[in-house]
Amino acid sequence: MAGKIVIDTERCKGCGLCVVVCPKNCIVISRHSNKNGYFPAQSVPSGVEGVPNSDCTGCAMCAIICPDVAIEVFYESKVEAAKSNKKGKPNLIKEKA
Ligand code: SF4
Ligand code: SF4
Repeated sequence: MAGKIVIDTERCKGCGLCVVVCPKNCIVISRHSNKNGYFPAQSVPSGVEGVPNSDCTGCAMCAIICPDVAIEVFYESKVEAAKSNKKGKPNLIKEKA
């Protein structure tokens, strides 16, 4: 299943949990800090040197583990999106056509 993530880099505190939990190595920590002084996570497009596998499956593990609710996951041609809520469970959201 193809997936894509969107990270709110201003909300992110750079804890790295999403980097560790991603089974496909789709996420790295940025070299550039955000306005709060944190180095945020960023998604990696396929084929980036040094990152052998960046094929996001849309598993939503990153969004579920993120303590700052900074990651949205889109999958199945962006028809549905999963975003973690404060209880750590994904919300399923239908995108408008
Ligand atoms: S949805 Fe899954 S595969 Fe995609 S970036 Fe998040 S943890 Fe990695
Ligand atoms: S888990 Fe959330 S807060 Fe931590 S680095 Fe990833 S996006 Fe940022």
